[in-house]
Amino acid sequence: MSILSANNIFKRYEDLQVLSGVNFSVEAAKLSAIVGPSGAGKSTLLHILGTLDQSDSGSLSINGLDISNLKGNELARFRNDSIGFIFQFHNLLPEFTAAENISIPAYIKKSNTKEVEKRTTELLSILGLSSRAHHKPGQLSGGEQQRVAVARALMNKPAIVFADEPSGNLDSKNAEELHHLFLKLRDELGQAFVIVTHNEDLAEMADERHEMKDGSLTRI
Ligand code: ADP
Ligand code: ADP
Repeated sequence: MSILSANNIFKRYEDLQVLSGVNFSVEAAKLSAIVGPSGAGKSTLLHILGTLDQSDSGSLSINGLDISNLKGNELARFRNDSIGFIFQFHNLLPEFTAAENISIPAYIKKSNTKEVEKRTTELLSILGLSSRAHHKPGQLSGGEQQRVAVARALMNKPAIVFADEPSGNLDSKNAEELHHLFLKLRDELGQAFVIVTHNEDLAEMADERHEMKDGSLTRI
């Protein structure tokens, strides 16, 4: 069964029809890349799939749950528990340490403190950040900051992680490191990723490539 299934998604902004019938599904332990020119609607689609934005029509189910049945707080809770996000700019809270930033989704979920500490330690280790646990974002390199953002996205063991140009702000060495990290998380944790990217290396190493063009996705 698919982790995510989107059918016939439409979205328009005033007189601009951005999405016109997107179909897309995601399987566990797969990395899907979405490519296409600027302005094609990739970010719009990612926001809709990630439940941050609503489509005008179409259906979306995640983990077998029809998202249109969730309202307000229920949807916010579902998003925090089941979906991870990674953006081009890490969006870490500057006054909090790496460990604290990573823990935030678990505290929102009101997870048990001991479990949060255990999970945070585990993620710091998986992402090679153990020696950086108590550093604040300003004391970390760009690559480290983005790895903290990846760890934060993984905190609640999400069904799926969405990333919008995750290596767009990194130099080539850090970008390559991040890409290999995605593959490791896919293989070791079975994590599903949907990644919007202009990076050809990343698109090349994905399990599936989809092109956004004329308002819909085509597998390429
Ligand atoms: P991509 O991620 O492929 O670059 P976007 O999804 O960001 O494309 O944008 C698709 C189109 O929708 C663009 O023409 C953009 O200007 C427009 N757009 C995006 N968000 C909004 C919005 N909130 N209001 C109006 N137009 C928007
Ligand atoms: P990378 O090789 O990942 O590009 P850098 O060369 O930028 O990393 O940084 C190397 C190390 O120096 C990193 O481990 C980072 O923690 C530390 N570092 C980088 N920038 C700063 C900073 N502004 N303040 C304190 N430590 C920093």
